[in-house]
Amino acid sequence: MSKNTAMQSDLENLIKYLSKLPGLGNRSAKRLALHLLKNKTSLMLPLAESIYRTAENIKKCTECGNYDTAEICNICSDAKRDNSIICVVEDVADLWAMDRSGMYRGKYHVLGGTLSAMDGVGPEDLNIPKLLQRTKNEEVKEIILATNATVQGQTTAFYINDKLKDLGKNITRLAHGIPIGGELDFLDEGTLNTAMQARKAV
Ligand SMILES: [Zn+2]
Repeated sequence: MSKNTAMQSDLENLIKYLSKLPGLGNRSAKRLALHLLKNKTSLMLPLAESIYRTAENIKKCTECGNYDTAEICNICSDAKRDNSIICVVEDVADLWAMDRSGMYRGKYHVLGGTLSAMDGVGPEDLNIPKLLQRTKNEEVKEIILATNATVQGQTTAFYINDKLKDLGKNITRLAHGIPIGGELDFLDEGTLNTAMQARKAV
C-alpha cells in the first residue's frame, strides 16, 4: 500500500467513526474531520488525548451504573445521602439533570436506556437485575421511577413496576404536567392530558 493510500484510509476511518456519532451523517462527519485537521494542535490532538484518557479512566459504577473514576461512584459512597430512596433514570445525563437541582438527596439507579422492541432492547440489556437486587435491601423504602414521559419510558416504568411491586416497597412515578410558566395554549395534547389526569384538590 502506498503512503498516500494509507493516509487516505486513515482519514476515511476517522470520517466513518465520526459519522457513527448520534446526529451526524456522512456529510457533517466530513466537515468535522476537516475542521479537526485544520485545528490540529489546538483541538484535534487534545481531543484525541482526552477521549483516550476518558475511555481509560472512567468506569461504570457497579452499584448504580453512574460514571466515575472509582468502581463505586461518589453518589453511592456518599454517607450523607439517603439510602432509603432510589431514583431510577434512563441515562447518566438524566442523573445529572436530577442532581443539578440539589433537591433530591437519595441514591440513583441508571438503566442505560429503555425497553424498545423496535431497537431490539430487552430487559436483559438494561441494568434491571441489579435494581431488583438493590430494592430487596431492607434499608430501601421507596423507588422513584423517573424514566421519561415517552412511550418507551412509560413502557419501561410499567415493566419495572411489575417486577418490583411484590417486594413491599413504595413505588412512585414523577408527576408529569404543566411546566412552571407554561401556557395551556402552547402545550401538546399528551402533556395536557397527563396534567388533567394528575389534577389535585386546590
Ligand atoms: Zn453509583
